[in-house]
Amino acid sequence: MQVTTTREALSENPVRVTGFVAGRFVEAKGEVISVLDPSTERPIAILHESDADEVDRAVTAARRAFDHGPWPRASIADRQKALMAIHDLILAHADELAALESINTGIPLGQTKLMHVTRAAQNFRFFSEYVNQAGGDVFTQEPGLLSLVTYEPIGVCGLIGPWNMPLGLTAMKIAGALAFGNCCVVKPSELTPLTVTRLFALIAQAGILPEGVLNLVNGRGHVTGVSLVSHPDIDMVSFTGGTETGTAILTSLAKGIKGGAMELGGKSASIVYADADLDLALDGALLGSFMNNGQMCLAGSRIFVQRKIADPFIERFAARTKALSVGDPLAPGIEIGPMINHSQRERMSRYAETGVKDGATLLTGGHRHAGFNAGYYFEPTAMLAPDNSIAICQEEIFGPFATLQVFDEEDEVVAKANDSKFGLVGYVWSEDLKRAMRTASALRTGTVMVNTPIVRDLRTGFGGYKQSGLGREGAQGSRAMFTEMKSTIIAQ
Ligand code: NAD
Repeated sequence: MQVTTTREALSENPVRVTGFVAGRFVEAKGEVISVLDPSTERPIAILHESDADEVDRAVTAARRAFDHGPWPRASIADRQKALMAIHDLILAHADELAALESINTGIPLGQTKLMHVTRAAQNFRFFSEYVNQAGGDVFTQEPGLLSLVTYEPIGVCGLIGPWNMPLGLTAMKIAGALAFGNCCVVKPSELTPLTVTRLFALIAQAGILPEGVLNLVNGRGHVTGVSLVSHPDIDMVSFTGGTETGTAILTSLAKGIKGGAMELGGKSASIVYADADLDLALDGALLGSFMNNGQMCLAGSRIFVQRKIADPFIERFAARTKALSVGDPLAPGIEIGPMINHSQRERMSRYAETGVKDGATLLTGGHRHAGFNAGYYFEPTAMLAPDNSIAICQEEIFGPFATLQVFDEEDEVVAKANDSKFGLVGYVWSEDLKRAMRTASALRTGTVMVNTPIVRDLRTGFGGYKQSGLGREGAQGSRAMFTEMKSTIIAQ
């Protein structure tokens, strides 16, 4: 893949995106898909879709590397060295990768640099350190009998990523899978293949990994994705994406009695008690709703405000939402870029209309942004909802769209926060730590943030209750996902 990171160069000469199998990029053939820049609606890449045959070659290369190659048999020190080399490579190309990510996703440059690229590198550093500490267990039963628990690589991992944080989320999977000695086939979203494909080129150029350890297939879910998850030689799939897709993947994996780690959708509650530090809570609720263009699984965009402070909080939230700077994600100071595509923008408009029909009040936004001739821009939106049962409070909207509701009592807000098919994250804002902790423990979510906006600590597991997923990513969660646990009982 060639290196061009200016929008002009990419739209004049769109890059070719192909798969990468057994140590080299494959010949550009297959169904051709245009990858668009959401800020201009112009093609920036031509994706040559990996068909079932190419997926088969990628899985076979990974299987060969796993069964016969050096990677699963390498010392931990050698694996650490390779992971840190990838970490260094990402940081050395941070500006280029961040620019590519912003052009492809529409997410503001400051955010792609920090969250997508820096975080991608951190994943490799973290797992290079964690794999050295993640030992097994030893138990004694009776004199002379020892039980050992060890963790072995699971084999060939299919790693499928979404479009909202292509590099960061895929890097998390690659780093975890490689650290434990696996070989992989990676499939990025067909909407945003650029940074992951570029990372493959950089790793190949630097000669960091043995042939077949890391393979790439590019294409749509119903073609490339389906071929990957139904391939008999895949041992597991780590997937991040929508709940419906996760269900389809799990159904396919069930036929081969294979595991799937699923990081799925969310509709996270942000609970603001009257005794909260209101400036902090307001900043946190805004960040939780609008960071990454609001296109975040862990968005805390279902906001509950206690009645005593509701009027001033809602007024300030709406004013701050209205004042967010919307525009070219490459321009300095921009807080919200365009939605990923036309259908995502239309979806936002439909939710704003449905909200009004269901009795919600539009506080600000709700429309396609009028200030741009091209690009999928949408006004940052806040709606006051009459209750938690309406669609805008139950369904994942996945854009800069916050709902606010007013509550009176602690029990009431906990019940409403838990009244969701999702259970990814909960946010609690209160200066009364006992109450905050009571609320945190009552929330049916995989993660709770108390008096802080989004923080990711890789030593903890991230994942969801209910329809937000299966399994956890990070430290022990990644080890559980990417290894088989083996018990060996030894009579001495
Ligand atoms: P998506 O489910 O449409 O697509 C995700 C990936 O799956 C893409 O690469 C796609 O090509 C592939 N895919 C689609 N159908 C497939 C199939 N049948 N078999 C195999 N692969 C298939 O999701 P998206 O729209 O790219 O991402 C947005 C969703 O991801 C949101 O629901 C969001 O909440 C979720 N997400 C979750 C997390 C998390 O950590 N829980 C993080 C980010 C995004």
